[in-house]
Amino acid sequence: MDERTERNCIICGEPKTEGIHIVSEFICDACEAEMVHTDVQEEKYHFFIHQMKQIWVQKNA
Ligand SMILES: [Zn+2]
Repeated sequence: MDERTERNCIICGEPKTEGIHIVSEFICDACEAEMVHTDVQEEKYHFFIHQMKQIWVQKNA
């Protein structure tokens, strides 16, 4: 896997080279770090979960 390949982050939509792959989707370092530190009470957390669910639905459909 080429780590240098630029991919669009599913959270922020920005093309990034650094990040993690979940299933066949990509989350950039910044968003991944933000997810880890996001409090469950925060609205953003629900946004992340919503985005994640879309991935699972797509992949398991
Ligand atoms: Zn991102």
